[in-house]
Amino acid sequence: MKPPKFDYHAPTTVDEALALLQRYGGDAKVLAGGQSLMPLLNFRLSRPAALVDLNRIPALAYIREHDGQVRLGAMTRQRTIEFDSIVARKLPLLREATRWVGHLPIRTRGTIGGSIAHADPSAEYPAVLTALEGEVVARGPKGERVVPARDLFRTYLTTSLEPEEILVEVRLPATPAGAGVALEEFARRHGDFAIVGIAAMIAREGQRCTQARLATAGAGPVPLRLRAAEEILEREGLGDAAIEAAARRAAELVSPDSDIHASADYRRHLTGVLTRRALKRALGIARG
Ligand SMILES: Cc1cc2nc3c(=O)[nH]c(=O)nc-3n(C[C@H](O)[C@H](O)[C@H](O)COP(=O)(O)OP(=O)(O)OC[C@H]3O[C@@H](n4cnc5c(N)ncnc54)[C@H](O)[C@@H]3O)c2cc1C
Repeated sequence: MKPPKFDYHAPTTVDEALALLQRYGGDAKVLAGGQSLMPLLNFRLSRPAALVDLNRIPALAYIREHDGQVRLGAMTRQRTIEFDSIVARKLPLLREATRWVGHLPIRTRGTIGGSIAHADPSAEYPAVLTALEGEVVARGPKGERVVPARDLFRTYLTTSLEPEEILVEVRLPATPAGAGVALEEFARRHGDFAIVGIAAMIAREGQRCTQARLATAGAGPVPLRLRAAEEILEREGLGDAAIEAAARRAAELVSPDSDIHASADYRRHLTGVLTRRALKRALGIARG
């Protein structure tokens, strides 16, 4: 299939891009890496009047440390994230998640902003944003606002971003020194979207868990923070029994849907299995 006709604009500043989005009154789409948008256009599942291409706005591609956070410009490519030294040191969970995203050509074009704005429930970056309590910065006609992960994802492929807003930055808190992270995922083939994925982080002092973070991919319409499972670890520590109880609780917390890839029951089962695996691996890393 070929895409329907659209006007094409390639602004060089965010202000220009915002003015273009306003001109089309909600009927234009932002083009980032195109790895999700172009298939949607080709299948004619999306028919915007115009595309506003962000690829010629250099100010949107960067990775910086700031006040305990790592800030990534929306147009930072997944492939850049995979090899960046700040990400390797401060955001090991994001680095690990990136290796699960599609295949090399997809990561070469695909961007962090595009992946989060697209809000595929099986994608890895939304799960990482949720697990680490990250936030995004959106700019629109009314100015700039910061949206925490918990207020961003509404349902399948839907966020709280307005059609005339651009996601300009992703902010993730740097991982505490000595913490362990793991992203465990089950997909039919490497590079496929997750049937279920679990993003985990554990900080500890001895057997005591000072901070646990768990979030899902593919186990419902939006990434889900598994707070009640985290609380078990923070209360009971990091022994086998506590990990087992947290994994069981995680499976109870999700309400996945059935689709052609997997039944809801199978996804719930995977949630428990992958939570257990992610926690054990994260703990191993935390122990050095
Ligand atoms: C074969 C294949 C396998 C894949 N496997 C995976 C996988 O395993 N895991 C995974 O996470 N992803 C996977 N992807 C998707 C890939 O990660 C995409 O790159 C990503 O979902 C979208 O990023 P993009 O930069 O390409 O955005 P685009 O495709 O350009 O845009 C996607 C959507 O987000 C909007 N958008 C983009 N940027 C912004 C912004 N800055 N502000 C506001 N709105 C914006 C667009 O308007 C569009 O609606 C796969 C893709 C393919 C084709």
